[in-house]
Amino acid sequence: MYVTELIKSTNAYKIISGEKKRGALSHAYLIVCPDGDYLREYLKVFARLIACDDDGCGKCRTCKLIDEEGYADCTFYPKEGSKILTADIDDLVSQTYVKPLENKIRLFVLSGVENMGSVAQNKILKTLEEPPENVCILMGATMDYSLLPTIKSRVKSIDVPPFGDKILKNTLIAEFSDIKKLDKAISAGGGRLTEIVRIYNDTQTEKTTFLCREILTKMKSSKDVLQYSSKIDKDNIVRFIAEMKVEVMRVAKLKLAGLLNDASLDEFPLGALLAIEDLLSEKERAVNFSANVQMTVDSILFGILEEKNRWQKL
Ligand SMILES: [Zn+2]
Repeated sequence: MYVTELIKSTNAYKIISGEKKRGALSHAYLIVCPDGDYLREYLKVFARLIACDDDGCGKCRTCKLIDEEGYADCTFYPKEGSKILTADIDDLVSQTYVKPLENKIRLFVLSGVENMGSVAQNKILKTLEEPPENVCILMGATMDYSLLPTIKSRVKSIDVPPFGDKILKNTLIAEFSDIKKLDKAISAGGGRLTEIVRIYNDTQTEKTTFLCREILTKMKSSKDVLQYSSKIDKDNIVRFIAEMKVEVMRVAKLKLAGLLNDASLDEFPLGALLAIEDLLSEKERAVNFSANVQMTVDSILFGILEEKNRWQKL
């Protein structure tokens, strides 16, 4: 499975694997990975590594049960499709006092901790500060700046940066066999499986992603605005706004992580990116209330230029 292969290629996997071999597993890990759609699957690979006697073989009963989220000594939070609630943390805290049933370690997997509220964060903090024995808490986040510094200081934080093109191609080719489409998706996907799979599966999305990227990198003056505004109409405006939001947040995350290596995108201060995201959300609502499409498009494009210039001057 490509998810397992990709994760096995990461430094994060090597670090935890080494710690397991030395009998030096941390009581809590924070895996930071921007790949939102796949985060939970990635965490399962780490959970298997920790719980399986054969280093996450993927074949034994333990591995299979973890994959199905049905292993007694590995509890997943939140329920699939929802966000972590305070009640989840209450449950986790009480479960940490239960001895493992068949494993040496009791594992708790928390996916999407970047959305955890401050009450929940404060509740889990006590467990992180004084963890019961034989407990390992595996947390996954797409970004970590919404987490309390006290939480971050109590966990071993490991980044999973975007994957490189080569490993992506080698692992994905078995599943995504159209090489041309795969190459395109990899080159536009920014090293994130979430994006790559979406682009591969959807040519319309792919076109829109390219358009958004072009607007951000090449649109420099109001003259350029006219050229781009003609490419967006009532049939694609909803997709355009959605894709532009994804693109703007992708750039913001790369910027925060210091991984942005495109000079024309570097012209956007972080404040400008966040302001553009706000503007897009506002226009998204306007479109839903059937605002004039062309006026909306123009105000988005001019807004992007304005925010960029305004924040550059600050
Ligand atoms: Zn196994």
